[in-house]
Amino acid sequence: MAKTDHCPICNVSVKPENLVRHLNDIHPRHPDTPRLREELRAEVGRVGPKRTAAPLRIQKWQVALVALIVVGGVGVYYLTRASPEPYPCVSGVGTYYHWHTQLSITSGGNPVTIPANIGITATCLEVLHTHDTSGLIHIEPDTPEQGRVYTIGDFFAVWGKPFGAPDHMFLNGTEIPASPTVGLYDRPEAIILQYASFTP
Ligand SMILES: [Zn+2]
Ligand SMILES: [Zn+2]
Repeated sequence: MAKTDHCPICNVSVKPENLVRHLNDIHPRHPDTPRLREELRAEVGRVGPKRTAAPLRIQKWQVALVALIVVGGVGVYYLTRASPEPYPCVSGVGTYYHWHTQLSITSGGNPVTIPANIGITATCLEVLHTHDTSGLIHIEPDTPEQGRVYTIGDFFAVWGKPFGAPDHMFLNGTEIPASPTVGLYDRPEAIILQYASFTP
């Protein structure tokens, strides 16, 4: 094979092994380029060594390692998401319904501050949660499957506190028998729980 060759389009002298690259770089849109490229590729020795001096060799174990990391990561993601069942992680939009119940608690006659961010972690916004210390419970299911009526007992479960035995329970201003099974509906629903002693 000759030491130099000429580009069939611009006639500049080019090393034979560089001619394909020359066509790609200098005449990428010339109408003859695709045909010339195919013809040159068919000639042995015409396509020079690849630009990367040390081609990247991917070993099987590397593929397996990446697969393991991906599978493990996805698994951890789903485990951390699934763990709070039956209080699923939600978007915070409340696509199915977005209700709020006002909860007030007293302990020995003194108001108890209900913490902000109950049900909220870095990885999960649980369907029942608080955003501030006002006692407003947010109920935000995204789907019909998540959209059952939750109870005040469910909120205590998310909070991690026992409902226990309040001395008095008021629902919308009316005293009712104290029970954790009272459903959480939308405002103006208001629940008051009066304990002899309650530690938030
Ligand atoms: Zn919310
Ligand atoms: Zn809300």
